[in-house]
Amino acid sequence: QTVLVEVKNLKKYFPIKGGILKRTIGHIKAVDDVSFTMYKGETLGIVGESGSGKSTMGRTMIRLYEPTEGEVFFEGDNLFKYSRKEMRRVRKGMQMVFQDPFASLNPRMTIAELIEEPMVVHKLYDRSERNEKVKELLNKVGLQAEYGSLYPHEFSGGQRQRVGLARALSINPKLIIADEPVSALDVSVQAQVINLMKDLQDEFELTYLFIAHDLSVVKHLSDRVGVMYLGRLVELANKKDLYSGPVHPYTQALLSAVPVPNPRLKKERIILEGDIPSPANPPSGCVFHPRCKYATDRCRVEKPLWREIAKDHYVACHLVD
Ligand code: SF4
Ligand code: MG
Repeated sequence: QTVLVEVKNLKKYFPIKGGILKRTIGHIKAVDDVSFTMYKGETLGIVGESGSGKSTMGRTMIRLYEPTEGEVFFEGDNLFKYSRKEMRRVRKGMQMVFQDPFASLNPRMTIAELIEEPMVVHKLYDRSERNEKVKELLNKVGLQAEYGSLYPHEFSGGQRQRVGLARALSINPKLIIADEPVSALDVSVQAQVINLMKDLQDEFELTYLFIAHDLSVVKHLSDRVGVMYLGRLVELANKKDLYSGPVHPYTQALLSAVPVPNPRLKKERIILEGDIPSPANPPSGCVFHPRCKYATDRCRVEKPLWREIAKDHYVACHLVD
C-alpha cells in the first residue's frame, strides 16, 4: 500500500465575532485534532452527523479553507508550505465533488463549457484537444456527447452529478473529495452514481475521500471508514471490522440505525439522547460524554487519545483501556 495523503493533527477553528467591536470572543472548533492516512487507490468513507466537521475537514485538507494547525502531506509533499497562489497549481491533483455540483457554477455555461473550464483554468491542452476530452469524459460518465450543448437546468440530479464527476476528472486528479455526492439523490439513482464512481476509480486510479452522513451510503464503495463526531475522529477501521465489530459507542449507535438485509441479525436500535452539542462550546473530556451511556467521571474530564487498538483500527474512547 502506497500512502497518498497523510493528515496530522489537523485543526480548523472559525473565530466567533461579537460585541460592537466585532472582536473574537470564541472559536468554533469545526475540526479538532484529526489524524489519518489515505492509501493510493482506496476509498476512505467519512461519516458524521451535520455539524460533525466532515465537510470542513475535506475542504481544509486541500486548503479551500486555511488550516488553523496541523499538517497535510500529499505524496509526501507538505501542502501547508505553499503560498495560496502556488496552492492553486498544486491543487490540480485534488478535486472536490459536491452535493449539488452546480450550486456554485455559472448557470449560463453549457455542460461542455463547464467540463472544459478546469482545463482552461489550469492551461491544459489546446482547444481542439479540450473538445475531444469533453466528449470522451461525457462518454466515460455515461452521457451522450450531444448533451454537451445543453444547460445544467435541463439535467436531472443524477445527470448533474455525472457532469460534476466529468468536470473533476478533466484535469486528471489523483484524489477526489466527494462531499455528500449522492445525499440529494433518490436511492436508485444513488446506486447508479456510486457504481459509476467505482468504475471511474478503477479506470483512472482514483483515491476517494467519500463524505456522507450515514454508514449505509459509504458501505458499498469504501475500503475503510472513519466516523466523526463534533470535529473529532472517534473511530476508523477497515470496512469489515467497522461494520461487524464497532468499538466506539457512537459508531455502535450509528450502526444500529442502518437497515440490515436479514432482520434476524438486527440488533436493537440504540437511541442517542439529545442533539449534537455546539462546536462553539464542546463538552469537556470526551466530547461524546453527554450522550454516552457508558460515560464515567474520567470521560467528563479526560480527552480520550486516538489509539490504534488493532492493525489499522483506531479508536478514541476510554473503554478500550
Ligand atoms: Fe463514552 Fe467515555 Fe468512550 Fe467517550 S470515552 S465514548 S464518554 S465511554
Ligand atoms: Mg456538509
